[in-house]
Amino acid sequence: VVIPKKAAEHLLKVSKFIDEVLVKLAGMPPFYKMNEVDDLIGTLIVALSPHTYAGVVGRIVGFTDSMVCFAHPIFHAAKRRDCDGDEDSIMLLLDPLINFSKLYLPDRVGGRMDSPLLITVTINPEEVDEQAHNVDICYRIPLKFYEAAEKGKHISEVLDIIPTIKSLIEKGSEIRTAFTHPQSSLETRPAESSYKRYGSMLEKIVGQLKLAERISAVDVHYVAEKMAETHLLSDILGNARAFFLQKFRCKKCGARYRRPPLTNTCVKCGGEIVQTVFRGAVEKYIELVEDILLKNIRNEYLRQRIMVAINNVKTTFEKEEKEQVSLEDFF
Ligand SMILES: [Zn+2]
Repeated sequence: VVIPKKAAEHLLKVSKFIDEVLVKLAGMPPFYKMNEVDDLIGTLIVALSPHTYAGVVGRIVGFTDSMVCFAHPIFHAAKRRDCDGDEDSIMLLLDPLINFSKLYLPDRVGGRMDSPLLITVTINPEEVDEQAHNVDICYRIPLKFYEAAEKGKHISEVLDIIPTIKSLIEKGSEIRTAFTHPQSSLETRPAESSYKRYGSMLEKIVGQLKLAERISAVDVHYVAEKMAETHLLSDILGNARAFFLQKFRCKKCGARYRRPPLTNTCVKCGGEIVQTVFRGAVEKYIELVEDILLKNIRNEYLRQRIMVAINNVKTTFEKEEKEQVSLEDFF
């Protein structure tokens, strides 16, 4: 694995911490004994993707200025990571081996995520996600391929022309990769994924739509519809549901109530009763969807579902115009 220089600088510090733990707490000799970043070359690491719990062992073979880990496609696929610019993580192998215990894990739902419960030492290429099997391994794309592309042939018709990792697996031969265009450097711009650079969801979505508008091969309406359908609409509906079915909590002692007591104070300690789901959580994507996505959505059914969801939220939080009328108003 070729790791970012920034990560290497951090791992160097971690190696010193681990050595100190070994010497001072365990009374053992230090293990890493590193002085500079270059000492990391050859060291074993565990790579773990977010929201998974199976780490994969790899070896550091170099550094890059880009904020990315370069590794074999099979390695990335083994940790269930594809090339969509998502986050990734690496640890020195000894770190999870000596500094990990199930006792450290939170007992909440999802608490086991992001922790190396399993560590894979040997990767079986057949067992990883099929995406990695589709990586081509030719050094020269044959003319036949371009001719087939010109005629708009289906991908299944060019399978024999372009060898892929899958064809190696089927033949039982050694897994290798290849490239068609020689490069003088692996580090071309951008050095950092904008998915990471953009802070808020709004920025990410605006960025994605801008990109979709520029690339003629991408249908911006399709992108907007997919985003709304798979993420934002379900988010709005889910948060609204959570808001209406929410429990209430005592600010002082943490007692939970299915419904707030009529006194609006905690029965156990008299503390203040507060909501567990707030208005902000329900409203957070409303403007985003209304202002940015809706104009790009052509599917009428989807558009109406979104409108209904937005109207539901809006009418719930609308300021009531009339206060309660008192009898005196009529005289
Ligand atoms: Zn209380």
